[in-house]
Amino acid sequence: MRAACPNAKTANAKFCNCSYPGCPRQGICCECLRYHLGLRQLPACCFPEAVERTYDRSFERFAQLVNANGP
Ligand code: SF4
Repeated sequence: MRAACPNAKTANAKFCNCSYPGCPRQGICCECLRYHLGLRQLPACCFPEAVERTYDRSFERFAQLVNANGP
């Protein structure tokens, strides 16, 4: 049996900006990333606050932000 992640729900939670209520993956970054990558999305922490709150976590939305902000 794998040991529980020592960062889950503690250190990770301090950096989690996700506003989606009740998600069981908050603070468990490996599960969050796996879940969103499977949907061609990125986690909440890849987006600024205003975009994060739209719950559009798509690769396309991320690419729009990158292109809009330039090099
Ligand atoms: S980004 Fe998605 S998977 Fe991660 S905590 Fe928020 S709702 Fe859950």
